[in-house]
Amino acid sequence: MSADAPPASLRLRIDHEALANNWRTLDRMSGTASAGAAIKADCYGLGIDNCLPTLRDAGARHFFAAHWGEVAAALNHVPAQSIAVLHGPMTREDASFARETGAVPVINSLEQAQRWVDSGGGRCHLMVDTGINRLGIAPSQVGDAAIQSLSVDVLMSHLASADEDSDRNAQQLAAFRSAAQHIEHGSLSLANSAGVALGNGFAFNLTRPGLSLYGGIARPELADAIKQVAYPEAAIIQTRALKAGDRVGYNGEFIAITDMLVGVVSIGYADGFLRCWGNVEGSKGSHFLRCESQLALLGKVSMDMVVVDLSNCPNLREGDWLSVPYSLPYAAQQSGLSQYELLTILGHRFR
Ligand SMILES: *Cc1c(COP(=O)(O)O)cnc(C)c1O
Repeated sequence: MSADAPPASLRLRIDHEALANNWRTLDRMSGTASAGAAIKADCYGLGIDNCLPTLRDAGARHFFAAHWGEVAAALNHVPAQSIAVLHGPMTREDASFARETGAVPVINSLEQAQRWVDSGGGRCHLMVDTGINRLGIAPSQVGDAAIQSLSVDVLMSHLASADEDSDRNAQQLAAFRSAAQHIEHGSLSLANSAGVALGNGFAFNLTRPGLSLYGGIARPELADAIKQVAYPEAAIIQTRALKAGDRVGYNGEFIAITDMLVGVVSIGYADGFLRCWGNVEGSKGSHFLRCESQLALLGKVSMDMVVVDLSNCPNLREGDWLSVPYSLPYAAQQSGLSQYELLTILGHRFR
């Protein structure tokens, strides 16, 4: 007999209103272009079932997955024709899967173009590489017969340095404009989240924000407009009274200098709370929050738990919930991780 699992001691609160607002903000900042939504990596770790309905209801109509394996979950919420798969058809099976489901391949190479045409062709998107040297055909390849035989809906490229004030942004913009003159297409798309903040010249017909939908501040211009979406919270599993001289955690890196009360909290590196948050040098000031009180992290982060100083909240008990400060720019600064990493490393044990 299988029993339902009791509620988890770790939860992720998603602010759906903030997520919808972030999409609307990015859509507005895209000017006459519409904002789509990058939904790869399970909506940047926040859960496709949590996020995709909200993005759809806010008005998003173009969704970008990376893997074909991400299509099925998206199909529960949005029509296949609205789902683009960025990695493109790497195999014949990928092309057949696209054909069966109706999800739209992004063609990234002459080989992918030929594979798509051989499988029967039809509507696709095309990625042109204008300088990131990741995926996409070279601008010099747009005249190739396999490329010219495609029915390209969205012609796209991807910016390498949109989060910086770099000359490369204008160079990529010019290369994209020029490539667009040599291939028929339905619409044009260049900007990710940071690209949206570069201004309307970069927006074309369709923008592809990801990070900033989910609360990341891709450029300083977005700081006031974009709201935090993900709020991790963890329960106290146990409280303990330490004596002066007691050590905490693996390798005993924290040593109590006085008697003190501590709490063992149900979040660890398996949940994406990596060791770089640990207070090893005593200098980083990583902490948890309970109401307005800061509870300092003590010693190393374990796989399933961390230990915090309860001196500021001595009445806390087993089962009480603490918040993990997760404003992404702040958390990135505290942990040394990128805002992208902070979202996508969140584990699977959150309720
Ligand atoms: C991930 C990705 C995006 C979204 O980028 P953000 O920086 O998260 O806004 C857009 N386009 C492509 C091709 C991507 O791979």
